[in-house]
Amino acid sequence: MAVPFTRDEFEARDAADSLAAFRDRFVIGTDEIAIYANGNSLGRPPRETAPRVAALIDQWGHELTAGWGHWIDLPFEVGDRLGAACLGAASGQVAIADSTSVNLYKAISAVMSAAGSERRTLVVAADEFPTDRYLLQSVAEQHGAELRVVPTADAIVDAVDDTCALAALSLVNYRSGELLDLAAVTAALRSRGVTAVWDLSHAVGAVPVELDRAGVELAVGCTYKYLNGGPGAPAFLYVSAETQSRLRQPLWGWFGQRDLFAMGDRYDPADGIRAWMVGTPNIAGTCAVDVGVALIAEAGLAALREKSVALTSAAASLAQSWLEPLGATVASPADPEQRGAHVAVAHPRAQQICASLVDERLVVPDFRFPDVIRLGFAPLYTRFTDVWDALDRTRSVMEHFR
Ligand SMILES: *Cc1c(COP(=O)(O)O)cnc(C)c1O
Repeated sequence: MAVPFTRDEFEARDAADSLAAFRDRFVIGTDEIAIYANGNSLGRPPRETAPRVAALIDQWGHELTAGWGHWIDLPFEVGDRLGAACLGAASGQVAIADSTSVNLYKAISAVMSAAGSERRTLVVAADEFPTDRYLLQSVAEQHGAELRVVPTADAIVDAVDDTCALAALSLVNYRSGELLDLAAVTAALRSRGVTAVWDLSHAVGAVPVELDRAGVELAVGCTYKYLNGGPGAPAFLYVSAETQSRLRQPLWGWFGQRDLFAMGDRYDPADGIRAWMVGTPNIAGTCAVDVGVALIAEAGLAALREKSVALTSAAASLAQSWLEPLGATVASPADPEQRGAHVAVAHPRAQQICASLVDERLVVPDFRFPDVIRLGFAPLYTRFTDVWDALDRTRSVMEHFR
């Protein structure tokens, strides 16, 4: 099928791209040959991250324990900045702490502890990210509850009934890239008495999210994908102001204690989002998250989303023209309104194709079992010509796997 545009046109789009200069704000090797299409797995390092973390280490060296005066509130300060830039969350509802997995545990376990004896079912999709499914299995077992597994997240609303306490679901599916309607799904579940626990890992920093407006109670997500916080950077947890007073966080650590340094006898949870902390926060990681959030805030999520839709639409169109005749199918929603920032291409030999793309230093995609080539195009540093070249190189490799 003929391609409806040319590489020259993609060069022109890069030249006209108002976000193009952000690419220079990232560390990119001059010897980098392969096209990085995996920013949805691990974002690139911002240039500002190393000096920011170095300044923290300097402060640590000079101030030692006195440095905690600066650091103790950082998880909430950065949480507020993340909430404002990316989550549509008013202050006091977001903390940067722990991993996504641990935050998910805190959220779902808290809901189960508060649920009535008639609501003993948790709901998840079979194609949900593995850590989410495992944590639901663990909480179900610990609470003597039942885990109901439905095929995909868009089947969850129809699958819940008055025995269900919660559904855990991703706003953007990590495989297909399907983007759900946050407000509609949250409201539909709530009207059935079911709490939605949202995982925003593949959405935050790429898709505008309005948690307060959507009436979301609990959300978690990671900071090393589109937020570029770096490997293992601490995750975030959103607990709406109303939910903070209604639910009890299940992991009672001293950072959730009302008076942290009183070293008191009994656990007495702090007010607000502080009760959702567990142990000593990772300050270097939180500084790195702050840098990533500031870049997104500067670019503006609306502009990023606009570019992202253009990038994924171009990728889907090229995949249709070039890859579908070679036995592939575009496995992401065709409507950009229902798609996050990555495009899934299914092919029976996806695993070998991905391995060739990486081995020959052509493209860095992700293989997702059993048959998906996942191409992520982080809008902050991916060019239109990168999309063209990534699809062109994938085509040339795929020709050997017919
Ligand atoms: C990346 C990702 C995670 C990661 O969890 P960690 O605890 O950081 O390992 C969790 N859920 C989803 C949906 C993800 O995409």
